[in-house]
Amino acid sequence: AAEEGFDAEEVDSELAAAASGPLPVLAVVGRPNVGKSTLVNRILGRREAVVEDRPGVTRDRVTYEAEWAGRRFKVVDTGGWEQDVLGIQASVAAQAEFAIEAADAVVLVVDATVGATDTDDAVVKLLRRAGKPVVLCANKVDGPSMEAEAAYLWSLGLGEPHPVSALHGRGTGDMLDAVLEVLPDAPRETFGATVGGPRRIALIGRPNVGKSSLLNKVAGEERVVVDEKAGTTRDPVDELIDLGGKTWRFVDTAGIRRRVHLQDGADYYASLRTAAALEKAEAAVVLIDISEPISVQDTRIITMAVDAGRALVIAYNKWDVMDDERRFYLEREIEQELVQVQWAPRVNISARTGRHMEKLVPAIETALASWESRVPTGKLNGFLGQLVASHPHPVRGGKQPRILFGTQAGTCPPRFVLFASGFLEAGYRRFIERRLREEFGFEGTPIQVSVRVRE
Ligand code: GDP
Ligand code: GDP
Repeated sequence: AAEEGFDAEEVDSELAAAASGPLPVLAVVGRPNVGKSTLVNRILGRREAVVEDRPGVTRDRVTYEAEWAGRRFKVVDTGGWEQDVLGIQASVAAQAEFAIEAADAVVLVVDATVGATDTDDAVVKLLRRAGKPVVLCANKVDGPSMEAEAAYLWSLGLGEPHPVSALHGRGTGDMLDAVLEVLPDAPRETFGATVGGPRRIALIGRPNVGKSSLLNKVAGEERVVVDEKAGTTRDPVDELIDLGGKTWRFVDTAGIRRRVHLQDGADYYASLRTAAALEKAEAAVVLIDISEPISVQDTRIITMAVDAGRALVIAYNKWDVMDDERRFYLEREIEQELVQVQWAPRVNISARTGRHMEKLVPAIETALASWESRVPTGKLNGFLGQLVASHPHPVRGGKQPRILFGTQAGTCPPRFVLFASGFLEAGYRRFIERRLREEFGFEGTPIQVSVRVRE
């Protein structure tokens, strides 16, 4: 009766979608201008990943959720960045590194009108070594007369080239079918696989905030085990570090330790690194350097962690140089720039002096506990019922949309599905989210609320 207006199948499919947990990751790689962004737009079915012609522009987002033939996955658009500043080889190598590290399957896009170049060959070598499934997309095959060109790409040794026109949509469906055949249902490193094992932490933040200093401090006298997977030349390495009586896996620490600060193209490289680390981690510790104003880069990294659905702790580093004036401004910056993550536990630390290091682990544990938490359906609906009674949705066009019932469809992070009798306005949705947090806590975890409206 509570499900009035929804048929059981509809409810089931909605819950299955929300409960699907971590999604497998598809990386789209290839040389500049072969049509990667156009293809990603096509896969997403909307113009979100805008084709960006300006060199030197770093996009805020690299990861998008997509769906094909009823299956959901993440698409990572590695395209459209500044080949001029970084150099084509380096930029393609960075993409390949990401694909190797964080993707579960790869689409290599080649421009069929150009044919295979040395760069394409180089990337094929890297991909082959990684052993990830690769689907070869022969792009810019805008018509049947071009298909012969696509056939030349058999020479890359990746099997059948799929002739596609990302621009016009030709062949993309067949190619995506081929992708789904090789894409695993769940990410390579599923969270379930680590039950009882060390929790995975991504230590992220813009260059010079103190990541390597913090890593050295926490690794310091403690046991450090470098976990290098045999037979790979990969650079990202996880370290197992004992902290607060437990062992933690800090993912992708090699890049932190190496401390290469690329001058040009550093943003691009750093974005890919951060995205890769987030894909592998359960919780993110974002470091902010308090000696400088909070920057767009800081908020972008926090947004990436939230979008990735990871547990989040914000560590304000270099507290040893804090003074009254800076403190005044910092608190205002936090109020202005970081309101949307007020729920994240905050620790004020100094990697240099070791100040408040002992607060890091409890903060991470709090965040992870929230990330995994589940609100029983009865309790949730009791709360929703009271909320709807005391704060009904405003009447619109003579109608009053009502929340009929809700359920938590998944965890890691908590995902809720609300079933409503009509469209719920954005303001009302935000209100519900805010009240959910007030009621159930969720300190340190993003939550997702989706609304299903009865047709
Ligand atoms: P990226 O650098 O690999 O992300 O490439 P873009 O997606 O930015 O595309 C580069 C250029 O190729 C743009 O001008 C696109 O419009 C064009 N392009 C992309 N796909 C196709 C296609 O299937 N056919 C044709 N003719 N042009 C395409
Ligand atoms: P990363 O690029 O994020 O790995 O940052 P690093 O660990 O290389 O640190 C960048 C600079 O900040 C170095 O000069 C560090 O000595 C300095 N630094 C790191 N942590 C602290 C801190 O807690 N206090 C102060 N005063 N300096 C720090």
